Amino acid sequence: MMLDLIDLCKTRDRHGVLREMLTRRGVNYNVLPYAHGVNYEVVFGERPRRVIGAHHDIVTRGDGANDNTASVVELVELATKLTRERFIGDLRIVFFDNEELLCRGAFDEMGSAEYAKHTTNETEEAIVLDVCGAGDVLVVSGLWHRAKLSAPFENWLMKKENTVRITTPPSDDVSFLRYGVPVTLMCTLPETESAPGDRRLTWERLHTAGDSIETVNEDTMELVVSTLYDYVTGRA
Ligand SMILES: [Zn+2]
Repeated sequence: MMLDLIDLCKTRDRHGVLREMLTRRGVNYNVLPYAHGVNYEVVFGERPRRVIGAHHDIVTRGDGANDNTASVVELVELATKLTRERFIGDLRIVFFDNEELLCRGAFDEMGSAEYAKHTTNETEEAIVLDVCGAGDVLVVSGLWHRAKLSAPFENWLMKKENTVRITTPPSDDVSFLRYGVPVTLMCTLPETESAPGDRRLTWERLHTAGDSIETVNEDTMELVVSTLYDYVTGRA
């Protein structure tokens, strides 16, 4: 996965490289353009009601390696694995455009808002990945769980040993909440940064030149892929 991460971080044509990566691996995808950008969707099974998504855009001050290229590469890997196994279960994997516009409050221009709006009726749960490239603790965002939308993935994940719930910065989860879809936002952190009062250097690096390829780690990417794989295939 590291080579894919480097390819995607170093290109000036992220859309092209992402499409090429999926095509080369035999993963079929739908191109979903909208007024402000382009989402990409990989569909497994008939009428899938579960969505796993990650934003594919980055802030250009750094490589955007942890935010959010690592998550994109993980979802490409998951899509590849499931395609090769001819998985026909319940899943849409979606790559969202323009999550970074959330910083300036442009909610309607986010790819996930567009996607959530048009799929509300057919989506029972959404899982959003953001900043999933470093550390071995899986973090569930506690920011929104008071919305009382019970998200199955969150309940499943919280039973695992290396999982914590803390308040995280918002991401594409806001789009699903807006349309009443139960959603879990997941990220990863090193253990030394995962307790409520800890300083989180990983997050301090985001949107700066410090969000570089060197901060991302292959073990973390493998952990995220295997966790999602276990969940969608009903293992573990
Ligand atoms: Zn992000």
